[in-house]
Order: sequence, then structure tokens, then C-alpha cells
Amino acid sequence: LRYLDANDTACRMLGYRREELLGMSLLQINANVSEEDLRRKFKETVALGPDRVVTESEGRFARRQDGSVFPIEIARRYLRIGERDIIVSVSRDITERKRGEEALQLRNLAIEASVNAILITNHLLPDQPIEYVNPAFERMTGYSSSEVLGRNCRFLQGTDRDQPEIELLRAAIQRGCDTRVVLRNYRRSGDAFWAELSISPLRDSSGRVSHYVGVLSDITEARNVREQLEHQASHDVLTGLPNRSLLLDRLNQAIAQANRYQRMIAVAFVDLDNFKFINDSLGHGAGDHVLRISADRLGDCLRDGDTVARHGGDEFVLLLNDQSGRESVTQAVTRVIERLAAPLSVEGQDLATTCSVGISLYPEHGTDAATLLKNADAAMYRAKAQGKNSFRFYTADMSTHLGERLKLEAQLRRALEFGEFVLHYQPKVDLRSRSVCGLEALIRWRHPQDGLVSPGRFIGLAEETGLIVPIGEWALRTGCAQARAWNDAGLPAMMLSVNISARQFKRGNLVEIVSRALAETGLAAQYLELELTESLVMENAEEFIETLNALKKLGVSLSVDDFGTGYSSLSYLKRFPVDRLKIDQSFVRDIGTDPDDAAIARAIIQLGHSMGLRVTAEGVETAEQLRFLREHECDEVQGFLFSRPLAAERVAELLREGLDPAAMSGD
Ligand code: C2E
Ligand code: MG
Ligand code: MG
Repeated sequence: LRYLDANDTACRMLGYRREELLGMSLLQINANVSEEDLRRKFKETVALGPDRVVTESEGRFARRQDGSVFPIEIARRYLRIGERDIIVSVSRDITERKRGEEALQLRNLAIEASVNAILITNHLLPDQPIEYVNPAFERMTGYSSSEVLGRNCRFLQGTDRDQPEIELLRAAIQRGCDTRVVLRNYRRSGDAFWAELSISPLRDSSGRVSHYVGVLSDITEARNVREQLEHQASHDVLTGLPNRSLLLDRLNQAIAQANRYQRMIAVAFVDLDNFKFINDSLGHGAGDHVLRISADRLGDCLRDGDTVARHGGDEFVLLLNDQSGRESVTQAVTRVIERLAAPLSVEGQDLATTCSVGISLYPEHGTDAATLLKNADAAMYRAKAQGKNSFRFYTADMSTHLGERLKLEAQLRRALEFGEFVLHYQPKVDLRSRSVCGLEALIRWRHPQDGLVSPGRFIGLAEETGLIVPIGEWALRTGCAQARAWNDAGLPAMMLSVNISARQFKRGNLVEIVSRALAETGLAAQYLELELTESLVMENAEEFIETLNALKKLGVSLSVDDFGTGYSSLSYLKRFPVDRLKIDQSFVRDIGTDPDDAAIARAIIQLGHSMGLRVTAEGVETAEQLRFLREHECDEVQGFLFSRPLAAERVAELLREGLDPAAMSGD
């Protein structure tokens, strides 16, 4: 098989001169065919008869003079010229076309293999039917390609067509641009999923948009995680209620609305009355339980559109929209108070949790969130102070009260820093020996403007704010140091009593603080007595008995102050390692005129003695009171009759000179 003729193009394409080509074997040029193959192909072409063209484009390659090989398309035709059978072949170099085809195929494979769902829609046909979907689309949606081809892709949203982003999508398509939207789509099973859809237009040679390619990714999981995070950032973990920051958002929104439509809103601060007690005595688990139940109950009381938020600790805030007046607010809040007061059972114990509520109204009591919250808080404090389990609307005088508190707190901190506290000492008198047997340290505040301020004005606030802890520690150390100094000065050895408040006790390191004060001042433990109020000891009996024992071990004495004002369980009193009871001055005051008080004082003395305790009466001002106490064998007395609390220098004088014998006589 040889070439008879070849044109210039053939020579150029193959890199031979014409003379070289002529007479060359076809096998030299055709790269991958055998002689038999060629003969068979020619025979077939001949069999078809003249003028029939046979084209071949797959798998045919030609070899150039330099040995390189390239793909060709061959169109073959049989001619009979004279006696000779001639085959005319027209070959075309299809390197470019092949390259394009391969690239396309590669792209197809890539699309098929993509993990993102891909679909192509035709925009030249009415209703833009789907023309192609890849296997990932089938996996993601559960629809097979045959079920979706030819349909518009809106079936993916089912009946859920009222999605704002669908509008965006439509607008982008109308303008022929690309866009990205997030849609709620539905799988074939009916399950919803969040899909991020990116679409891009494909244009034909005339620049007209012929197709759109869409890439879908399932972002349900990522979105769930984000929603969870958002929820956590705006909700309280324990109760699931909105937290303070979400409350602020809602309140600001509500204010804007109320402002626009001239409506009233109410902000109610709800504080559980005895939560601290529950938490301290039954433990945090019980406390959490109570908070959760309270949260649920508050939720039950509200209408749609109202908010209940946890403000922190045992404080909740209600945001009541669209109130018609104080009556409607009162009704809502009364419901809340009643609902919360229903008994609940925690760890087998029935508890009642009442609450105090303070209310501020928009716009009457404030026009911004911060003011409304602050005023509701102030009103809540007032409700609490005036008997709990009730509510108060805000009034202007509450703010000044709150303002004063804040001012006082700041001043107290400063007082501690600048050493404005002093201790005065009040003698205790032993009725048998008729001499001073002890001194009670009582704190005073030397206020730069107000002069000497008595503890009644600041101890309460110091306890609430926790400042009592450093203040109490200061009093303890200063008292011990003073007692040691008197001892060193040769004055008769004397018991020093220091008052300890509940908060100091609950801090848990009282034993350490006391032993450090003794060690640092060098005062022997036998000269120190701690006065604990009755309510403190009794409310926390079980918890504190250990601490009391540890304190006793140090060698200090313990007395129960203000005895008779709280209620003591005798069984506890028996187990407590206390040394002394102090009859509260309220019973002493009317000992001579009120038979009940007289009976109580007598009973306390007897009770104390029956348990081997010494009994001290405080607030003794008159000879009559003294006579009564002596008659009933009270052990010690303390009061203005003998001495007011004195500055340290005056105490030294008194101890040297002794008591006024007239006071002692009781005449
Ligand atoms: P308290 O421990 O029951 O102290 C007795 C209070 O009665 C003292 O008031 C004292 O001055 C006053 N008093 C003494 N004799 C008489 C009297 O004959 N007639 C009248 N009407 N009152 C008398 P003070 O000093 O104002 O202290 C009040 C309370 O403040 C104390 O009650 C105590 O509970 C607390 N307190 C004082 N100092 C401290 C302290 O350092 N730490 C703590 N935590 N509390 C303290
Ligand atoms: Mg006392
Ligand atoms: Mg007292």
C-alpha cells in the first residue's frame, strides 16, 4: 500500500517533501494500524461503492517525519480510475479538538465527583428546567436524577416558599448575575435542611445567558452549631431563660415600640426572698432546683410577647409589654407573687419561696433601659425592706435611698483604707465580785464630716456588701493587740469580747483568722471571747457546729449574743460548745414593768445555768434592773449604769481606779 499523490498541506502536516512521500508505505505514516487492518478498512470502503465517504476519528494517529505522533480524522472515499482502485483520504489534524474534548471530560468527571451538589438549569427553555444534576445532588436531596431532570428547581423548597432569600435569588437571575443565598430546602424524605446555594450564569457565544450552574452545600450542621452558640451567648444555662444581655436587647426594642405607639411597658425586678437560706442550708443542688422551678413558674405567668430573664443570682426580670395602666401591671405581678409562693418540694422537703418585686414603668419612671432597670431594682429593695412577699412601684425617694447606700458603701471602703475605724470598750461587771471581769470591743467609725458613727448605721450594709469580712478582721486584730497591751502594762488580766457577724462565719476561714490574730498579737486564747448572734448560730446550726468546735479547740470562749431574739432550739444549744448567753437588752429594758420580759429574763438565766453556762445581761441602765438581775442570780451585767463604751485610754484609767461604788450598790 503506497501513496500515489499528496497535496502541499499533507506535506506540511507530515514534514515530508512531496517526492519523499510519493511511493512511501502507508504504514510509515499511519501510526497504530497493521497492514491487515488497513487492507480490511479499504476493502470495506470499496465494498460500499464509489462516492461514499467513510470517516474515522477515534483512535487514528499519524506519524510525522520527526517521529512525533498526532491524532487525525480521516475521510476516505473509493474511486475507480481506469483499471485501478484508488482510495482518496482526506486527513485533518485534530490535536486541538481532542485536547478540548479531554478537558471537557475531565471537567465532567470533576463535577460528577464533587461533594457539593451541582445542578445546571436551562434558561432558554420556559420555566428553566433542570438539565443536569450530579451524584452529590442525588445523595444530598434523595432525588434521583431522572426524577428531577426537566423540572424547575423550586420543588426543593416544597410549600415553604415564603423565604426572604428566594426573592434575592429571583432578582439575581433576572439581572443575569451570580449570587449566594441560604435556603431552607427539603429532602425527598421531607426532612428540612439548610442549603447554601451559589448560582452563576453561563453565556452562549452571543453573550446571552443560556444556563445557570448552581452549587448547593448542606450547612445544616454548621448552622445548628452557630445557633447553639448564639443561644448560649444570650441565654442562661441553668434556667434556659434569656440572660441580661438579651434582656437589654428586648427592653430596648420594647422601648422603641412603646415610644412609637405611645404604649406603657413595665419592668419588674423579682428577687426570691429566702433563696440564700435555701442555698446555704440545703446546698447548691437544691438552690439550682428552686431557681429552675421559679423560672418555669414565671414563664407560666406571662403572655406571649412578654419576657422573663434571669438577671443573675436569684434575681429575675419581667418585661411586660403593652400595659393599659397600673391595674394591669398589678394584676400581672400579683399573679407572679402568688404563683411563686406555691409550695415546692426539694429533696423531700416542702419549701415556700416567696419573692419581692419592684416595678418601674415606661415612660413614667424612665425612658431608657438602664434607668428602668435601676429604678425597678430600687423599688424591689424597698419591697424587701418593708416585709418581703410583696411588690412596690418605684417612687422618686427610692433612688435617693439607693444613692445613699452606694455612697455609704464607697465611704466604708475608704474608711477601711484610711484607718477611720476605732474600737471602744465596754466593761462587763461580775455581780459576785463587783468588779470588771471583761471588756466588749464595739466598733465606731470616725467619719471625717459626721464625727463618731455608731455601728448600727453601717454594720448592716457592711454585712450585705461583704465588707464586714475585712472590717471584722481589723476589729479582731485591733482588739487582741489592745488586750495584750493592757496585759503588758500590768493591768488586771481581763476577758476581751469581739463581735463576729454571720458573713465572717460563712467565709469558712474564721478559725484561721482568729488563730492568726492571736499569734500575731501574742494574746493568750483564754482572754478572747467571740460573740455570735443567736440567729446566726441557730440558722446554720449543723453547718457551724464544726467551726464552733474548732474555735473552742483554739482555747477561745464563745458567747451567744442577743439571746432571746431569735429562736433557739434547746437541743442545738446543748450540743454547742458555748460558754455564755447574753440576754438581749430588749428584755432587760422593761424588766421592772413588763411581767413577760421579766419572765423571759428569768427563764434565760435558769436555762443558762441548767446547761452550765454563764449569763450576762446587757443594756443595764437602772438600779432597779440591777436589783432584779442580782436577785435572780445573773452572773454578769453590762450597761450604761456602770459605763458606756470607752475609748482605750479611758479604759486604762477605769481599770486602775475601779468602778463607781454607787453604781454597784444598786441603790
Ligand atoms: P451588741 O454586741 O449587742 O452590743 C451592745 C450594744 O448595746 C452596743 O451598741 C452598746 O453600746 C449598747 N449598750 C451597752 N450598754 C447599753 C445600755 O445600758 N443602754 C443601751 N441603750 N445600750 C447599751 P453599739 O456599740 O452601737 O453596737 C451595736 C451593735 O453593733 C452591737 O450589738 C454589735 O452587734 C454590732 N457591733 C459592734 N461592733 C462590732 C464589730 O466589731 N463587729 C461586728 N460584727 N458587729 C459589731
Ligand atoms: Mg455584742
Ligand atoms: Mg447584744
